[in-house]
Formats: sequence, C-alpha cells, structure tokens
Amino acid sequence: MTDENTNRSAGVVYDKKNPFPSTLKRRVLLNKEGSAKETLHLELCLASSGLEYLPGDSLAIVPTNSPEVVGQIIEVGGFDASETVELKSGSTKPLGEVFATDLNITGVTKNVLKKYNAFAQSEKIETLLNPENKAALDDYLRRRGVIDMIADFPVPGLAASGFCGTLRKLLPRLYSIASSPKAHPGEVHLTVAVVRYHSHGRDREGVCSTYIADRVNEGGTMPVFLHHDKNFKLPEEGATPIIMVGPGTGIAPFRAFVEERAAIGATGKSWLFFGDQHRATDYLYGDEWDRYLAEGRLSRIDLAFSRDQAEKVYVQHLMLEHSAELYSWLSDGAVFYVCGDVSRMAKDVHEALISIAEKEGGKSREDAEVWVKQLQTEKRYLRDVY
Ligand SMILES: Cc1cc2nc3c(=O)[nH]c(=O)nc-3n(C[C@H](O)[C@H](O)[C@H](O)COP(=O)(O)OP(=O)(O)OC[C@H]3O[C@@H](n4cnc5c(N)ncnc54)[C@H](O)[C@@H]3O)c2cc1C
Repeated sequence: MTDENTNRSAGVVYDKKNPFPSTLKRRVLLNKEGSAKETLHLELCLASSGLEYLPGDSLAIVPTNSPEVVGQIIEVGGFDASETVELKSGSTKPLGEVFATDLNITGVTKNVLKKYNAFAQSEKIETLLNPENKAALDDYLRRRGVIDMIADFPVPGLAASGFCGTLRKLLPRLYSIASSPKAHPGEVHLTVAVVRYHSHGRDREGVCSTYIADRVNEGGTMPVFLHHDKNFKLPEEGATPIIMVGPGTGIAPFRAFVEERAAIGATGKSWLFFGDQHRATDYLYGDEWDRYLAEGRLSRIDLAFSRDQAEKVYVQHLMLEHSAELYSWLSDGAVFYVCGDVSRMAKDVHEALISIAEKEGGKSREDAEVWVKQLQTEKRYLRDVY
C-alpha cells in the first residue's frame, strides 16, 4: 500500500487530513434470511470530490464510536461527559465528544493496560504484565475491552484527562473497493462484514462496521479518503488471463476487476474462486456472477460453500481439485490474486499454490517454493489480505 492520495476539486483537497463527506446512496444486506453472516453492500457518492480510484484501491472510512459504548464508559468510569478535556493538539472538547470521535474506547492492548495501571496500581495487572505471564495476559486481552478494564480495576475519582492519556487514537478503517469507476461513475462501492459478537457477558461490536451498518442512514454522510495500492492492480494487457481467489468479503476487489474488464472489453480469460458458508444465503453478488458467466465476461467460477456438506470445503480445496488447469493457466502467464482473511485463508491458498507446483510441475518442495516466489517477484501473485 502506498500513501494516501491527495485530490483537489475546486481548490479543496480531500485526503486523510481532510476526509470527504461522502453521501451513502444505498446500503443492501447481501446475505439472505437465515444466514449467520451480516455482509453489506454500500454505494457511496464521490461526485464533485475530485477523488479518483482504480480497481484494487481501498477506501478509508473515519468512524465514530457507538453512543451506547460511550455511555457505558462514562457511567462505569464515573466520568462527567460535559467536562472539558484538552487534546494533544491543544484544542479542547467535552469528554463525551472525545470518547465519541477521538479515542479508541473499545480495544485493550498490553500498552493500554500498562498505562492504565499507573492509576489503578493493581497487583493483578502488575502480575499480568510480567513477561512470564504472557499466556494469562493474552487470555485477559482476548475478547475483552476498555469497558472490562475499568470495571475490573476501578479507580475512584480517576481524572478524565489522565484516563484519556491511556487510550489509543480512534483510527480510520480500510475497505477494498468493490466497483469500477467506469461502471459506476461518481460512485464507490464496498462490501463490509459487520462485526458483532458476545464475550464475557457483554455484546460487542466492531467500531467501523457497525458505524456503517447502524449509525449512518441512507442519505447521510460519512468521512472518507482514498488509499491507493499500486501493486494490487489488473494487468495492463486486457488479454492477460487472471485468477481471483476471494472468499467472504475478499470478493470485493474482484467485483471491481470483473466490472472493469467488462467495461473496457478485455479479452483475457478470468477465473474466480469464491467461498462462504451456504450457497442459499451467502453467495455474495451471485446474480452478477451468474450473469457475467452467461455473457462470457467471466470464464469460470468455482464455489466453496463450507457448510453445505458434512466435510468443510474451502477455496484452497477447489484450487487443489483443479490443479492441472490452474497450473496451466499460470504457465500461460495468468496473474493470480488473493483477497480476504490473512490469518488462515491466505496461508492455505499459498500452501495450495506450492502443492500445485509440486504435483503439476513435477517440482521438489524447494523448487515449488522458488517457483511461487518467482510469481511474486514477477508481480503475478498479488495479495490484498487483512
Ligand atoms: C487493506 C484492507 C482492506 C480491507 N477490506 C475489507 C473489506 O473489503 N471488507 C471488510 O469487511 N473489511 C475489510 N477490511 C477490514 C476492515 O478494515 C476492518 O478491520 C473491519 O471492518 C473491522 O473493523 P471494525 O471497526 O468494525 O472492528 P474493530 O472495532 O476494529 O474490531 C475488530 C476486532 O474485533 C475482534 N473480533 C472480531 N470478531 C470477533 C469475534 N467473533 N470474537 C472475538 N473477537 C472478535 C478482533 O480482535 C478484531 O480485530 C480491510 C482491511 C484492510 C487492511
């Protein structure tokens, strides 16, 4: 990823320092009734912003915290929401507003706990911070938040300014762009998985995904800026074949890629691997893929719906099932793209590529690894993983 772009329109520059207030034109739930997932399709307006993107870029959204969570922190911490607090920049604001817009009031890290303990002086925190107790610390931090920290280790009379100093800044979140500007001039589309879960007796929410889902209405605005990725791009030649692996929200940039190649009349073959839980409820943009296939704008799709059969099937299993064809596409110069979950999927897909090179290319494990590395060096194996 490169630095944020700077865009000018009528003398106004919209970038990280001055995000564009983009109107939410449309928000659609992509999953059907009965799904365990909540994946949203968003259409945002960029008209008159001067912001220009290409498929493969991301959009950053600057969220605000949930008023419920702000209220809980104020109540449990015994704070006064109207108290004026001075920010690092020197400006002053009421504490309630600082919690809503400036600070990360949800996630706890080792460093946050350490800073907080300057006030709490808790022996239990001290013990958790001892390097010998890393497992216990990880266990405490996992699925807990700021609210648990202040409830578990109360500090009567804690000064608001001191407490604010223990917290991290609230940061923008990135989303892979799911549209081609050629297909949707003046708009940018996103595919967002909403984070909601329950742990340690509390309902929890991802800050930005629930800001998008719950706190901005259609017709309302959200602050955005572009984040360009100079590597995760379509090949310059429209005739070059592409292979796209994008389960879950990893599908987003590939919707942009397929739209773009359709708009420019690219002749190269395209092969999409998608996966999620169930075909009936989670085939994201399924109608569009079926139409592109029928029109010949997408050459091939392989679908891994993990929970539609007794044995879990994931995208890497389908890659291995079709290893001969996949190896042949790569040998013919195809560019291979992966987008989505970095923690498991991207590793499994990487491993599958090595296995395919061993099996179909008759290579030793070592040579297969070199071959995959070479694909990366040639920028024919590109990843947008998070
Ligand atoms: C380059 C890039 C592209 C991205 N593209 C997309 C995209 O296209 N679509 C998309 O949806 N996201 C995308 N993301 C991820 C996105 O930026 C956010 O991280 C995501 O939406 C969560 O943000 P949040 O503020 O809602 O959650 P946060 O408030 O940041 O909370 C997320 C945290 O909650 C915890 N958590 C989440 N679920 C659970 C659970 N079930 N149990 C316990 N803990 C849990 C985890 O610690 C997780 O890190 C992308 C990220 C990057 C870096």
